[in-house]
Amino acid sequence: MSLGEIAERCYNMTTSYLEVSTNSIIIRETQDAVRLTRRHLLEDVFTRWSPLNGEISFSYNGGKDCQVLLLLYLSCLWEFFIIQAERSQYDFKYQKFPMENLFSVYIDLAETFPTLESFVNMTSERYQLSLYSSMREHGTKASNMSCAFGDFLKRYPETQAILIGVRATDPFGDTLTPIQKTDSNWPDFYRVQPILHWKLANIWSFLLYSNEPICGLYGNGFTSIGGIDTTIPNPYLTESKDNRSKLPLKFQWEIDNAFKKESDEINVLAIDREDQLWLKKLGPEEYLPGWYLIDDEIERAGRIKK
Ligand code: FAD
Ligand code: MG
Ligand code: MG
Repeated sequence: MSLGEIAERCYNMTTSYLEVSTNSIIIRETQDAVRLTRRHLLEDVFTRWSPLNGEISFSYNGGKDCQVLLLLYLSCLWEFFIIQAERSQYDFKYQKFPMENLFSVYIDLAETFPTLESFVNMTSERYQLSLYSSMREHGTKASNMSCAFGDFLKRYPETQAILIGVRATDPFGDTLTPIQKTDSNWPDFYRVQPILHWKLANIWSFLLYSNEPICGLYGNGFTSIGGIDTTIPNPYLTESKDNRSKLPLKFQWEIDNAFKKESDEINVLAIDREDQLWLKKLGPEEYLPGWYLIDDEIERAGRIKK
C-alpha cells in the first residue's frame, strides 16, 4: 500500500468505528476519545504546522499507544488531503496524495526487545514511515532520549513539532497538555500529545477493532513495554482459573466485528525466537493477552526495577 492508500484505509476504519452504534460504554467512550484527538489534529495541529513539509514529525517506537495515534494521524492526513482537494479547481480524480512517506523518528535504545524492533521495521513499511533511526545515523544504540532527539533536530532542523503517544495515566503524564514546549533540559520543539485523555481500555478497543497488526509481546501478557532488563509480562495476567473469571474479555465485539476482517484470528504477530527463549527462562507461567487488562493503575505492573 502507498501512503495515500494506508491513510485512506485508516480514515475508513476510523469512520466505521465512529459509526458503531452500541450499548458498550467502552466503545462509546472510545468514540469520544477518537473525536477529541481528531479535533486536536485537524483544528489545532494542521492549522499551525504543515504535515506535508517536515515541520511535523512523529515519534514512533512500535508501542500500542503511538500505533493508535499513528492510525488516527493517518486518518486525519487523508481528511486533510480531501479538504484541500475539494478546494482545488481540479476534479478529485486528478488529485494525487501529496506525500509518499511520513516524517517520523525512532530512537533505537540498547534495551529494546527484538520483537518490538522487528515490529517497528515491519510497521514502518506498512505505514510508509520515512523513519529516522538513531542507530542508522550514528552506528550505535542511544542511551539518552533527549540527546538522541537533539541529534535528530540537527539532522532535520525544519522540525517544529513532534507527535508523542503519551497518555495522562503514564508517569508524570497528568501535568501534560496537548501542545506544549519541551522542558528546558530537552532540545527545543513543540510536543504534540493528542491522546493524553485515552485510557487503556480505549486503546485496546480501537486497536483490536482496527485489525491492524499487533506486536506479539502484547499477545503474551505484556501490557506496557519498557526495556528488556526492566519489563516482564504483567503478573496480573498470569493464566489461572481464578484470573479467567476475574478478567473477562471486554473486547469480544471489536474482535468479532474487526474492520475488513478476513479470519477469526486476532491480528497479533509472533514473538521473535530470542524473546521466546528469554520468556522460557523467566518461568513456566502462561499469560493472558495484554488486552485482558483494562485497569490503568496496573498497566505498568510488569515494569520492574533491578
Ligand atoms: P511509552 O508509551 O513507551 O512512550 C510514550 C511515547 O513516547 C510513545 O508513544 C512514543 O510516541 C514516544 N517514544 C517512546 N520511546 C520512543 C523511542 N525510543 N523512539 C521514538 N519515540 C519514542 N520528557 C520530559 O521530561 N520533558 C520533555 O520535554 C520531554 N520531551 C519529549 C519529547 C519527545 C518527542 C518524546 C518522544 C519524549 C519526551 N519526553 C520528555 C519523555 C516522555 O515524557 C516519556 O518519558 C518517554 O516518551 C518515555 O515514555 P514511556 O516509556 O514512559 O512510555
Ligand atoms: Mg505507552
Ligand atoms: Mg517506553
